[in-house]
Amino acid sequence: MSEGAAKKEERRKFQAIKGTRDLLPPETALWNRVERIAQEVFTSYGFGEIRLPIFEQTDLFARSIGAETDVVSKEMYTFEEKATELPSPRPFFTPRGYTPALEEAFQANPGFNTPENRRRLALLKDHLSTLEQAEVRRDAKASSAAYDHYVAVLETILQGDRVSLRPEATASVCRAYIEHNMQQLPQPVKLYTIGPMFRRERPQKGRYRQFYQIDAEVLGGSDAPGIDAELIEMVMTLFKRLGLEGVELDINSIGDKQCRPKYVELLRAELRKVKDKLGPDSQRRIETNPLRVLDSKLENEQKLIGGMPHIADHLCEECAENYRGVKKELELRGVKYRENWRLVRGLDYYSRTTFEITAKGLGSQNAVCGGGRYDGLMELLGGPPTRATGFAIGEDRLILSLQEAGKRPAAKGRDVYIAWMGEKAYTKAVQAAKNLRAAGFSVELPPVEQKFGKALGQADKLGARYALILGDNEVASGEWTLKTLATGEQAKFTEPTLLDFLQENNAV
Ligand code: AMP
Repeated sequence: MSEGAAKKEERRKFQAIKGTRDLLPPETALWNRVERIAQEVFTSYGFGEIRLPIFEQTDLFARSIGAETDVVSKEMYTFEEKATELPSPRPFFTPRGYTPALEEAFQANPGFNTPENRRRLALLKDHLSTLEQAEVRRDAKASSAAYDHYVAVLETILQGDRVSLRPEATASVCRAYIEHNMQQLPQPVKLYTIGPMFRRERPQKGRYRQFYQIDAEVLGGSDAPGIDAELIEMVMTLFKRLGLEGVELDINSIGDKQCRPKYVELLRAELRKVKDKLGPDSQRRIETNPLRVLDSKLENEQKLIGGMPHIADHLCEECAENYRGVKKELELRGVKYRENWRLVRGLDYYSRTTFEITAKGLGSQNAVCGGGRYDGLMELLGGPPTRATGFAIGEDRLILSLQEAGKRPAAKGRDVYIAWMGEKAYTKAVQAAKNLRAAGFSVELPPVEQKFGKALGQADKLGARYALILGDNEVASGEWTLKTLATGEQAKFTEPTLLDFLQENNAV
């Protein structure tokens, strides 16, 4: 690089990273409004807020979302926790030399000395002893197998120490439920959380690498249809309060551990019959996860998929009864829904009710909320068997849809701009600003003296409603001039009557 180019590079302006963005005023006022109303609605349904860490052990997400999903295998922001004082297995790695070093590091580092790691260490020692015995026997095959086993376990230890930015919140909520023994609280425990999530996706409208979710989970208790229906009612109530337009709710039941496997086999068999007519992704999924074929958006696959058996016709009696119950409960609550048999979840721990909500003005990324029951997840994470259901709202998309519908909050300017001139006036102005702010008004106090003309221009630019004019005359007479900027009207007030006037004209 030439010196000039190097200089230029040095002065290069920084930009927000692709897929991330700054949220600026006045747009943030809409974000605050959405979050405030979500908090109000959720509180009225008995939900409490949980604030979670932004990063967790990679393993938590791998286990809950599924190591083979796109989110986990391709989209997570993962980094090594450098505090890992584990010795590096390189450069002269031998299981015999490494195992004692690792054990020592575990002892020195309480963070690593977890039951899980102790179990793994015991496994390593087993594999090491198998390896040594195989070497004594000069059994190359057995020793190579033992070596591979050793390395596989070692990798899980080293990996266990990797952390990822959270791609979603449910896994963390469950981790917290288990960690804080929330099963001892009155059930169900109802929690919500709002915050950023991270996925390395291809950015486009409504899809970002840092995006925000409003997430609510009902943990514990029963699987009474009223729980699912009330959760859905809650999110629909929120959308209504926000004035979201074109809201459509799709629901489905995906059965449970008893009945779903049979349906999946049936679906697989039917899909195999038309395999040649499907694209490569769907072909692969017939074998790996046939339910996901139903997610296909490819135009030429739609007709074939439309002819596949519907899961609703293959639910066991308990699941069918539960599904009827959820629909009845939704009707009871006046919640309109559409049944969509293709609304599925690819992971085993999901069960029964799933739902998705779409809204207007979002193009292809029109899902604003996804949710469903996940009765098997808590156990998968080492907790007690716990029924659970929840949803995640894509806040960015919710805001986009509100904006498209013209629901921007009017940019709120200042209530009062204090145009002052002269040292005495400044003393009064500082005091007046303090008093008006304490009374709840938004006040702009310019820090340096300006001519009145310039000050009024500035007040206008800031969208101020009133200019309070404080000059030598006003200070001397104790009568202040208040100018209504929209009309140009002026009136005189003493300090107390000014406050009364502003309050009556409820500028707050
Ligand atoms: P999921 O956690 O994938 O079920 O997503 C729940 C909701 O989060 C979706 O319905 C979207 O509204 C939103 N969402 C998911 N991924 C993104 C993303 N990359 N950018 C913006 N919103 C997203």
